[in-house]
Amino acid sequence: MKISVIGAGLGGLSAAAILASQGHKVDLFEQNETVGGKMQEINIGGYRFDTGSSLLTMPFVLEKVFEQCGQQASDYLEWKTLDPICRYQFSDRTVFNHFSDPEKNRSELMRIAPEDIDVWDEFLDYSADLYRRTSKSFLFNPLQRFRDLSAKSISDLLRIDAFSTVSRRVDDHFSSPRLRQLFKHFSTYNGSSPYLAPATLNVIPYVEMHLGGYYIPGGMYRLAESLLKLANNCGVRVHTDVPIDLIVPDPAKKRSISGVMINGALYEADAIIANCDATCTYLNLLPENALSRIRKRKISRMEPSCSGFVVMLGINRIYKQLEHHNIFFSDQYENEFRAIFEQKELPVGPTIYLTNSSLTDPDDAPQGCSNLSLLVNAPTIENGHQWHEWKETYTDHIIHTLEDRGLENLRESVVVRKAITPADFERLYGANRGSIYGTSSNTRRAAFNRPRNKSPWFDNLYLCGGSTHPGGGIPLVLQSALNVGTLVDRQKKS
Ligand SMILES: Cc1cc2nc3c(=O)[nH]c(=O)nc-3n(C[C@H](O)[C@H](O)[C@H](O)COP(=O)(O)OP(=O)(O)OC[C@H]3O[C@@H](n4cnc5c(N)ncnc54)[C@H](O)[C@@H]3O)c2cc1C
Repeated sequence: MKISVIGAGLGGLSAAAILASQGHKVDLFEQNETVGGKMQEINIGGYRFDTGSSLLTMPFVLEKVFEQCGQQASDYLEWKTLDPICRYQFSDRTVFNHFSDPEKNRSELMRIAPEDIDVWDEFLDYSADLYRRTSKSFLFNPLQRFRDLSAKSISDLLRIDAFSTVSRRVDDHFSSPRLRQLFKHFSTYNGSSPYLAPATLNVIPYVEMHLGGYYIPGGMYRLAESLLKLANNCGVRVHTDVPIDLIVPDPAKKRSISGVMINGALYEADAIIANCDATCTYLNLLPENALSRIRKRKISRMEPSCSGFVVMLGINRIYKQLEHHNIFFSDQYENEFRAIFEQKELPVGPTIYLTNSSLTDPDDAPQGCSNLSLLVNAPTIENGHQWHEWKETYTDHIIHTLEDRGLENLRESVVVRKAITPADFERLYGANRGSIYGTSSNTRRAAFNRPRNKSPWFDNLYLCGGSTHPGGGIPLVLQSALNVGTLVDRQKKS
C-alpha cells in the first residue's frame, strides 16, 4: 500500500518505520524543519537543553519497535539507569531521594515518614497488581474489534480501581502528608489531576519505581534521531518543512480517504496515519462537512490534558543539592490543580520539575556551569490568556520560588534563559490548546475512551501519538505506533 504519515513526532516516526518494514511505500510529512515533535533540543551559548521529555520508562516498548523493523534498539541507542531516579523536596525543605535499592529507600523513609514504612511496599504491590491487570487488556491492546475487547477479563476489569480517584486511594494507604503528595504527583505524568483521575492511574508509580527510569546519554533527542535513522533504514521517505493542509475524503467511496493536500495539490494514498493531535485531526484537518455536527461537538468537548510552562536556564554555577531529576513540591497542592483545571490559571504556588542533565552529561554546559530545564504544569489555552506577557513574568516567579526553596542567588547566576508556553506548544506542534498529553484522564470515561488508533468513521484513517489510545508519554506513544502496525496489517489481510 501507499501510506502517508502526518507528523514526525515519536509516534509518527515509529509508525512510519514499522509500516515500511511491512513492505508498504511510506511517505512521512512533518511541518517543522526537524523531526521529533515535542521532543526537541536546543543549544544556546554552550548549553544544551531537552525541551520535552527528560525520562524514559518501559524501554522494552522501544525495543519492540526496533524488533518489528528487524533491528536492535541497542545498535542505535543506549540508555542508562538514574540512581537516585528522583530527588523530591517538600515545602518544609525535607528531601527524599528515591533509589533503586529498596534498602536505601527504607532508610530514606525512616527519615521522612517512619509511620508509613511498611505501607510503601504494600502500595507498590497494589500498583504492580494494577499494571498486571491493565497491561494485557488495556495498555498493550489496540481495543479495536470484539476479539480485542474479549481479551479483557471481567474480573480484571472489576479490580482496576476505576471507581475511586488517585488521591482518595493514596490517602487510604498513607498517613504521611509527604508520601501522599509524592504518590499523587504521578498522575501529572499523563496530564491529569490526582483529585479527579481514576485510581487506575496509580499504576504509574509501579512503572517508574519498579520498572525503572532511564536517561539517554547525549540527551533525550538522541531517541528522536534514532527513530529517524530507523525510518530511513526501513525505506521511509521523510519530508520535513511540509505541512499537510487537509486530509481529503474520497468523493467516490464512502468511509474512505483518498490522500492529503499539500500546497493545493492532492497527494494520493491508500491509507493515512495521523500523528498530529487527534482532536485537531478530526476538527481542523478534515473538510468542514466530513463529520456530523454532533460528532464534532462530542470531540470538541473532550477535556485536554494540562499543558506545560517550560523554562530553560543556563547558569554559571553548580548547585550541589541538585540531582539529575528533582521535584520541588508546592505547599498548596490541591489549589495547584484547581488553578490548572478549574480556574484555568497558572498556579501561584507551582510544583517545579527540575532536570539538571549536566550532572550526568557534563558536556551539556560549560565547565563549572549547569543546564536547568524546569517544567511547571499549566492550564490549556483559554480566551484572554496573555502568554506573550506572562512568559517573562512567570519565568521570574519560578526563579523566585526556587530561590525561596534553597537555590540561593539563582537569578544572578542565569546566563541563558528561554521559556516555552502553552501557546508555543500549540503553534509549534499543533497541540490542541497547548495540551501536552492529548486528552486528560480526569474522568473514568475519558481515561478509557481516548481516540482509537483506527478511525471509527474512515476505513483507511489511522491515528497514533500521545493524544490517542493508550496515552501520552514515550512508551505509550510508541505502543500506539505498534497498534497502528497491527491494525494496518489486519486491513491488508481482510
Ligand atoms: C515538556 C514536556 C515534558 C515531557 N516529559 C516526558 C517524560 O519525561 N517522559 C515521557 O515519557 N514523556 C514526556 N513527555 C511526553 C512526550 O514527550 C510526548 O508524549 C511525545 O513526545 C509525543 O509524541 P507524539 O508522537 O504524540 O507526537 P508530537 O510530539 O505531538 O508530534 C506531532 C508532530 O506532528 C506535526 N504536525 C502537526 N500537524 C501537522 C500537519 N498538519 N502537517 C505536518 N505535520 C504536522 C507536529 O509538528 C509534530 O512534529 C513530555 C512532554 C513535554 C512537552
